[in-house]
Formats: sequence, C-alpha cells, structure tokens
Amino acid sequence: LSLSDTVEAHRICVCVRKRPLNSKEVTKNDIDVVSIPGNGTLLLHEPKQKVDLTKYLDNQVFHYDYSFDESSTNDLVYRFTAKPLVQTIFDGGMATCFAYGQTGSGKTHTMGGDFSGKSQNSAKGIYAMAAQDVFALLNQRRYSSLDLCPYVTFFEIYNSKVFDLLNKKAKLRVLEDEKQQVQVVGLQEMYVSCAEDVIKMIEMGSACRTSGQTSANANSSRSHAVLQVILRRRNQVHGKFSLVDLAGNERGIDVRSSDRQTLVETAEINRSLLALKECIRSLGMDSHHIPFRMSKLTQVLRDSFIGDNSRTCMIAMVSPGMSSCDSTVNTLRYADRVKEL
Ligand code: ADP
Ligand code: MG
Repeated sequence: LSLSDTVEAHRICVCVRKRPLNSKEVTKNDIDVVSIPGNGTLLLHEPKQKVDLTKYLDNQVFHYDYSFDESSTNDLVYRFTAKPLVQTIFDGGMATCFAYGQTGSGKTHTMGGDFSGKSQNSAKGIYAMAAQDVFALLNQRRYSSLDLCPYVTFFEIYNSKVFDLLNKKAKLRVLEDEKQQVQVVGLQEMYVSCAEDVIKMIEMGSACRTSGQTSANANSSRSHAVLQVILRRRNQVHGKFSLVDLAGNERGIDVRSSDRQTLVETAEINRSLLALKECIRSLGMDSHHIPFRMSKLTQVLRDSFIGDNSRTCMIAMVSPGMSSCDSTVNTLRYADRVKEL
C-alpha cells in the first residue's frame, strides 16, 4: 500500500474490508473462507459440492483499489478511503463514502467506531476521523480567508422515509423543485465549532438510531444512516461530505417464513442499493442521466452524483465465515459492478 496513489483523483474508489472471525463464529466452528494476499486482491474459497456429492473449494479472485485484511485498523482504512476525500469539500466539491455489506460485517464499526468498552478493539470510526481532519484544514491559514462555516446533519432512511437523528427522529418530507434541487424539509443543520462538537452529535444521533421499539424505530440494520459535514460560505453550500452506513444487504431471507414487514423492508433495501449502484456508475461514466429518482436514498444524495468535482468511495465489508458465503459473494459482486465501467 502506498498513500501517494490515493491522492491522485480516482473519482470512484472501491475497497473491501474483512473483519476477523468473531467468538460466536469460532464457537460454531465456522471456517474462514476469505483471504487477502494484498494489493487490492481478495480470494474467496467457496465450499461447493459436485453432482456425486464430493466436496471441493471453488476459488474466486476479486480485485479492488484496496483490500484490507482482518488485522487492519480503522485508522489504516480511513487513511486510504475517506481521508483523501476531505480535501474535495474544501475545493468546492462533493465527497461521499459508503459502507456496504451484510449485517454484522463491520459497517458501523468502521464508520461510527466502537466505544462500547465491551470490545477490546475500542476504536475511533471514520465519522470522527473525518471530522478531525475537516477542522484541521479549516484551521489552516489558506482556508481561513474563505470564511467557511461547518454544519452537521445526521439522518436515517428507513422504508423510504427520512428521520432526523438530531431531532428525536422527526419524520421529514423530501421535496424536489423545478430545478431538480432536492430538499429535506426541516432537517436540523447544526453549527459545529470543533471536532468534539461533531463527535457529540454522532453519539447523540447514534443513540437515537438504536433506541425504541415501534416500527418507525425499527432495527438499525434495516435502515441507511447518513452523516453529512457541510461547509457553507456566505450561506451557500461550498462542499459537502456524506458518510453513509448502509442498510444490511443480506441474502437468504426466507420469503415463506418472513412477515410482511420484513419482505417490504427487504424489497426497499434492494431497490435503494440497486439505485445507488446505478448512480455511482453514472458518475464514473460522466453520464448526463443520473437515475437518482429510483430511491429515496439516491434522491437525497443527488448532489453527490453531479458536478465535475464529485468523488465517491465505497468500502465493501465482508464477514470471513463460511456461513456468510452467500452474502459475501453478493457483496463482492456488487462492489465489482460499481467499479466496472
Ligand atoms: P454492521 O454495522 O455491519 O451490522 P457492526 O459494525 O455492528 O456490523 O459489527 C458487528 C460486530 O463485529 C461488532 O461487535 C463489531 O465490534 C465487530 N467488528 C466489526 N468489524 C470489526 C473489526 N474490523 N475488528 C474487530 N471487530 C469488528
Ligand atoms: Mg450497523
């Protein structure tokens, strides 16, 4: 890995991160079917059976911009993914970083960090590290003359509905005007004066995200969470960094035994992830048609897919266990498609 490669502008960067086997998987004798030899490569050793029932390993190779193995820290992942995008918003562009993968693969660990104290791997997430770097640049002399003011929003999209995580999960409407500008009506945009302010908002919003029992407060793994750091200049948006913890893309939800709500949620998640892939691809192709209306997620993120100075990074998270193989294949193929033009 060399950091100098990241500085040059790939408009779309796609990476994969493998987490370690957890104790539950170890107890169940789950085996590790993912290996990362380095240089953006990932090998999947998928157990299969021939017609005559003999077992064999089907080895598949995948290539990405970077591949991070189970020993990688959040800090390392951040340096190669979101960090190079911080500059973009100072240059007046849009930056977006997505965490993609099945539930339990490490999206929230990577984005929000792990402060539970229960884990030995207590680690800052990409949200907090990006906030620190935004303030480090704001305090540099070359930017202080621009009079940039930083704000934060934090919201959740569940079943096509938007909820404000900085305002007691208020349900918000999304409107599009005649110029196709999308507005989330009433979304709280909080002024922040230091990185600690941002971290407080993240803690507040994250607690709000996982609390409650009713359907609108449903399981956080079924919703997308979006943290935005917005730089305003004379009240106009100068640049915006969106950091997105996507809903779980798990495979193998049993259609016969699932309740109606689970099926509706799953269909909606699939639709929005499909829309996201198409929108990122259109960014890479400099296409004039961006299918952002395909889902609420892409509609709300419309700004991120337009403009010459938009940059996107996707981190595809994978669980290492054989029991997760179907979802892992699904994640790896999706990440492949995002990049392939
Ligand atoms: P997701 O948000 O994708 O559902 P989480 O981030 O909540 O998954 O991760 C599930 C569990 O695995 C958490 O307990 C988390 O602490 C742990 N975990 C995830 N990634 C890592 C990692 N790279 N190293 C150590 N533990 C991890
Ligand atoms: Mg999560």
